[in-house]
This record gives sequence, structure tokens and C-alpha cells, in this order.
Amino acid sequence: MSIKNLGIIGGGQLGSLLADAAKKFNIQTTIYCDDIDAPAQNFCDNFIFGKYDDKHKIQEFTKVVDIITYEFENIPYETLNNINLSKPVLPKPSVNKLIQHRISEKDFINKLNIRTTRYAAIESKSDIEPLGDFLPGILKTTTLGYDGKGQYPIKKIEEIGSLNLDFSKGYILEKLVKLKKEISVIITRFGNNSYEIYEPIENTHENQILKHSIIPAEISKKIFDESKEWAIRIAEELKYIGTLCVEFFIDKNENLYVNEIAPRVHNSGHLTINAFNISQFENHVRAVCGLEKIALKKISNAKMVNLIGNQIKPYRENFKLNENEFFFDYQKKEIKDKRKMGHITTLI
Ligand code: ADP
Ligand code: MG
Repeated sequence: MSIKNLGIIGGGQLGSLLADAAKKFNIQTTIYCDDIDAPAQNFCDNFIFGKYDDKHKIQEFTKVVDIITYEFENIPYETLNNINLSKPVLPKPSVNKLIQHRISEKDFINKLNIRTTRYAAIESKSDIEPLGDFLPGILKTTTLGYDGKGQYPIKKIEEIGSLNLDFSKGYILEKLVKLKKEISVIITRFGNNSYEIYEPIENTHENQILKHSIIPAEISKKIFDESKEWAIRIAEELKYIGTLCVEFFIDKNENLYVNEIAPRVHNSGHLTINAFNISQFENHVRAVCGLEKIALKKISNAKMVNLIGNQIKPYRENFKLNENEFFFDYQKKEIKDKRKMGHITTLI
């Protein structure tokens, strides 16, 4: 079936850049989002505002599109599953369900003989007390976290008392990895053993929010190969269709760990727009819409810098770009602290 209208759930910058990528193929995009000010409405053809559990609105959305994908993982499983009964959802809803929960995600990765941080499920305060050797660690909500939200670094058991935890939600305690570096690998899978994979990207975080991404990553050949091999193993095991990102930690002893999987395009892959013949967004559209897979070619090394909060301001005010610089403004209505407002990619 040739896809004429692609439905995208979620209207942030990732949705915007997906909608942009679809234009090349004359595919119309309809974005569904629960934020009336969603910036992606400036980039798509149709925009539907509604809550993610509003059956009526979701039905209206499903009717006008041929196929549905999503730009973030925290969509109720029931919603994706219901949509999937009438129109295909890619990546499939079961993938999203597995990955949106930090414990089922890590259990899955470990079953593939891939290393993660040590972790334990926490359902009450008393669950943490015997876990002294997991400290220092980070306590995280098992669901709905992003950009470091819902995370509490803990050095000593006594600190837990002062945290305002809500045990009606689940938590996970992860041992803190002594980080040397963080990298990510982005892969787009089209079908059985059919994929395009980007080289590892080196990432720097500030306050748990991604700040810079750069290629080439300064890593050993062993880590370069192992991270790609693990990303392929994960994508194949999930029978994934579309673009997926695996975030990794490298510790001071050169051990590689999977931090988490993002079942979607990823902020660290923004540099692929300018640094490769085909971006992660175009590849996602190609894979979910059943279009041709084209061999990836790197055009240039690159560095991407996220513009967070007020950092966007000087770039909006007649900033002169060099030929090798590319500025993206997500056109968010309001500038907010700790909010990703845009990015700038420099070819190096
Ligand atoms: P999010 O879903 O918010 O992206 P992550 O689990 O990726 O959550 O955490 C965000 C960042 O916090 C990571 O990229 C890393 O810099 C830091 N971090 C998270 N967990 C650990 C850990 N177990 N050890 C060391 N650093 C961590
Ligand atoms: Mg992360």
C-alpha cells in the first residue's frame, strides 16, 4: 500500500522533524498531541489536539491516516493497541509496552546477554534498606521519566527519608556507573536482517539533559564494534520496524553497558540531518512507510549543541551562521528553563 497520510503521536521537536522528513516523499502528516501549543503543528499538514486516552478523538485521528507512528514512548499501551486493530502502528505496540517500563526494558536487555547497570525494583521504603551495595545509586520512576525527570541520586540509605516518594508508582534503584563517557547508536530496521546503522555518537549531559553530541565518538575499536553489535541484536530481537536508539554508558574500566532504549528517533541523532545522506528521520519514514532502503553515507563529521531555555535567544536575534552551521528553532511557544528550544549542528 502506498502511504499518503502518516499519523504521528506526539507533537514535540521529534514530531516536527519527522513531519519535515515526510515532505520529501509527498506524504502528508497528521500529528496527534495532548498539548494545544504543540510546536509540531507548525511543521505538519494536520493537527489534532486530544488526550491520549480520548477514544473519540483517537478514532478521528485513526480515520484520516494510513499508518501510525510515534515520537515518544509514554503513550498508553491500550491506546496504541486499539489503534493497531484498525490501522498498523509501527513500531508495534508491544515494543513500546516493553520499553516504557524501566524494569521490563532492563530484564529484556539482560536476557540477550547484554550488560546493563545493576538494578532492583522498589515498591516500598523497606525494599531499599537491604540494598546498600547498590549505592551510590539513582532511584528512578519506572515509567514516564525523560530528561532526568523523576530521578533521585542517593548516596546513603538515610537520604531516602527526605525524599517525597509516591509508592503508588513503582521505582527502580540503579547502581551509579562511574562514567567515562556516554554514547548512543541509532539504527533503522526495515525487516529481517535489513537495517541501516549510524556510527556511535558521543554524548555529553548537563544536569541529566543532553547538551552535546559529536561524531566521531572517541572510543576504542572494541567499543565501536560492540555497541553496534548490541544495537543490531536488540533491534532484531524486537523485530523492530523504524528508527531506534540505544543509549550506552562506558565506565572507567572500559566496560560497556546499555543505559536505555528509545523506541523512536532520538535527540542525539539530530546531527544525522546534516552529516549523512539520509537522516534518522528520513530513515524512520522510509522504514515505517515501506519505502526503499538506501545505503548510508557519511558526508561529514559533526557536532550538535542543544539550545536549552534562554540559550536560544541570541540565535533568534539575527545571528550570522557560517556555511558549516545549521540552526533549528523548534518554534516552541514559550521559553522555559531546562527545556530544549532548538539546536545547532556544525559540520567539522
Ligand atoms: P532519561 O529517561 O531521563 O533519559 P536516563 O536513565 O537516560 O533517563 O538518565 C539520564 C542521564 O542521567 C544519563 O544519560 C546519565 O548521564 C545519567 N544517569 C542515569 N542513570 C545513571 C547511572 N545508573 N549511572 C550513571 N549515570 C546515570
Ligand atoms: Mg536517557
